[in-house]
Amino acid sequence: MPTPILVLNCGSSSVKYQVIDADSEAVWATGLVEKIGLPEGILTHKVPDGEFVVEAPIPNHDEALRLVVQAFADHGPALADVVAVGHRAVHGGELFRETTIVTQAVIDGMEALAGLAPLHNPPNVTGIRAAQAVLPDVPHVAIFDTAFFATLPAEAYTYAIDKDLAKQHSIRKYGFHGTSHSYVSKKTAEVLGRDLKSLKTIVCHLGNGASISAVDGGVAVETSMGLTPLPGLVMGTRSGDIDPGVFAYLGRVAGLDALAVDKVLNKQSGMAGLTGGLSDFRDISAQIAAGDADAKLAMDVYLHRLVSYIGSYVALLGGTDTLVFTAGVGENDAAVRAGVCDRLAPLGFKLDPAANAVRSKEPRVISAPDSPVTILVVPTNEELAMARETVAAIRR
Ligand code: AMP
Repeated sequence: MPTPILVLNCGSSSVKYQVIDADSEAVWATGLVEKIGLPEGILTHKVPDGEFVVEAPIPNHDEALRLVVQAFADHGPALADVVAVGHRAVHGGELFRETTIVTQAVIDGMEALAGLAPLHNPPNVTGIRAAQAVLPDVPHVAIFDTAFFATLPAEAYTYAIDKDLAKQHSIRKYGFHGTSHSYVSKKTAEVLGRDLKSLKTIVCHLGNGASISAVDGGVAVETSMGLTPLPGLVMGTRSGDIDPGVFAYLGRVAGLDALAVDKVLNKQSGMAGLTGGLSDFRDISAQIAAGDADAKLAMDVYLHRLVSYIGSYVALLGGTDTLVFTAGVGENDAAVRAGVCDRLAPLGFKLDPAANAVRSKEPRVISAPDSPVTILVVPTNEELAMARETVAAIRR
């Protein structure tokens, strides 16, 4: 008996979805609704026998979900067969430490956390409500991006600020991309035929957003994102770590208020800020090849930050068995992987250049056979991870 799960990821202006049979792990349908709230909305629905596109104004998430339901009715598979819906939920704060079946109390809790993730939690909740309206008879499950990092020790999640202020406003490190870090660290143990409990792993999730985690025996012990997804590694448009004094400084010298600085650091920084607008690593590599000094410096800053984090996580873990690359850049950019590993060679990271150069969608080892640390590329699959989490939650 198949166990089809609808996985939904509602962002502020988009809805991504898949139907995955949790038993065979086959993908029955994938889809994307874009430009919600704009006059030229678009829905793309892909099933094994074709791809279907609907262009129409999509004023809100209710209408987006209505169009999704219509696409399933027109092109299949039958939504009536879906046994549960798994929702991506970005910020679980201190309330949600694991995947949770949605009740009214859960929705209230997510709404109460909106201050921590104003761009993400409100559309997540809107999506849950809209999906409950169209699929009222199946369980809905919330999968929190922060949950995998609920295990961080206090010394890792505590910021060195006034403890009462921190408590009053729930200021601490939460971490994000948890579904990916969890999936990839488990998959790494599987690929190596090792017991997860005996494995020390550093996972580099390098996409447009980027974060790194230290995982000891399957338990996350450190990660680079924080209260928000802004700190840590250099990202496509986000600065990652920066002196927090920049907020007051830019207020004084440029008249920018905190919200304006936040926008600069989130949207106009990172690789885009350093290169004058390029956030895609394919474009940045082409510019480096063309001799562009800004692009070269951007890449050097990116690698420097990443190497600093990996070195520090090796120290925190007391050595590591594996280093794993995932997400768009980590899976596809051999030059980034080589740049990282070459700098880390003195610490026992020895790449196999031929294995690193291979393009593949499969998980693979890219280190030399005599490398003390095993280096891998493990493609992430957040949708599959969410489908698994959903099934585990409804069977608990
Ligand atoms: P993600 O957020 O995981 O979807 O990653 C998206 C990013 O991956 C893009 O912005 C690119 O920088 C990067 N990327 C995707 N494909 C490639 C590729 N073939 N080579 C290098 N970078 C890539």
